[in-house]
Amino acid sequence: MGATHLPYGRQAIDEDDIASVVEALRSDWLTTGPRVGAFESDLAAACGVEYAVAVSSGTAALHLAMLALRIGPGDEVIVPTLTFAASANCVLYAGGTPVFADVDPGTLLVDPADVARRITPRTKAIIAVDYAGQPCDYPALRALANAHGLALVADACHALGGALAGRPVGSLADLTCFSLHPVKHVTTGEGGAVATDDAALAARVRMLRNHGVTADRREREEAGAWFYEMVELGFNYRLSDIACALGTSQLRKLPGWIARRQELAARYDAAFASAAPLAAARPLTRRPGLSHAYHLYVVQVPERQAVFAALRAAGIGANVHYIPVHLHPYHQERLGTGPGDCPVAESAYARILSLPLFPAMADADVDRVLDELGTALAATGAGATGAAAVAATRLAA
Ligand SMILES: *Cc1c(COP(=O)(O)O)cnc(C)c1O
Repeated sequence: MGATHLPYGRQAIDEDDIASVVEALRSDWLTTGPRVGAFESDLAAACGVEYAVAVSSGTAALHLAMLALRIGPGDEVIVPTLTFAASANCVLYAGGTPVFADVDPGTLLVDPADVARRITPRTKAIIAVDYAGQPCDYPALRALANAHGLALVADACHALGGALAGRPVGSLADLTCFSLHPVKHVTTGEGGAVATDDAALAARVRMLRNHGVTADRREREEAGAWFYEMVELGFNYRLSDIACALGTSQLRKLPGWIARRQELAARYDAAFASAAPLAAARPLTRRPGLSHAYHLYVVQVPERQAVFAALRAAGIGANVHYIPVHLHPYHQERLGTGPGDCPVAESAYARILSLPLFPAMADADVDRVLDELGTALAATGAGATGAAAVAATRLAA
């Protein structure tokens, strides 16, 4: 004992971030002011798109994406089940029905073939989730969306800073949603954003984040006008100038952070490619031709419950991402979903473990996680036969 607790993720705040927030506090603007627009342009540039709209959370971003697409009662939206509940809840907020799709057993990304099977005449959109930070198979999803006249939304809350075939995450779907929560790549405390190349969709998100009125306070003041009209039922999902000051400062460090996450992931990869007992832990498959943003480093292990408990007891903040959404009591009751709907995700759920990964981690922290994980795997008896056991459970899936 005595070893410090190592969380699975953690924000990095430096003196530049603090100075940037202090400068906002000393300015005339606390809520929507010049720093919101500045952050939005920097984020749009980082994503390779025309527009980014800052909102109060990733969940708000997803909600407004659904409303911008006019999802409503009677509409179905296909969502992978292995994700945070907010990916599906946004459809419910809009009055629509989430339809859960299964994932690929190697990447745990949404399986386009399973999405295709779940398309009905009521389907209006697909939400892709870049699980763990790996961009989904967007060419396949885009082909499906085009063939069936569907919108393609990315829940890229794990993948800011990633890329697919040289195209940044943010430019791969019609609307891309990001979270700026402290556990994600870049933080504003709480916060989120929607990125898009579509001027009309961007304008709708902007209008809906501000009560559904046609101009925000600053725009009105600049126009010298007192007049505004509410044209839709919107929300107060604005993000403050204080938060955006932090976001702009954080965003400058994103490329370096992604590089460091990739380095740490490679250190994990090397250990799991070596000998027992660590070889019993199986990292997710990485598809070629992409830059992985590594929000999470996920392995599949035998006897996950025991391994998880052993790591926690050793001060390693391992976690599990996620309980498949279709298995939550609320979704089962409300949507009639249940065990058997998405067998690959259900089987993966029994084995997944997220290991600590954040830019400020030292190589020695990774080695400590690997030591403890090796001990835990050996103790479960997985050490010698674990690779075979994982292979067997995969076949059973
Ligand atoms: C974090 C996250 C969200 C929600 O973001 P908040 O900012 O916490 O509202 C949605 N989807 C996924 C996949 C996430 O990881």
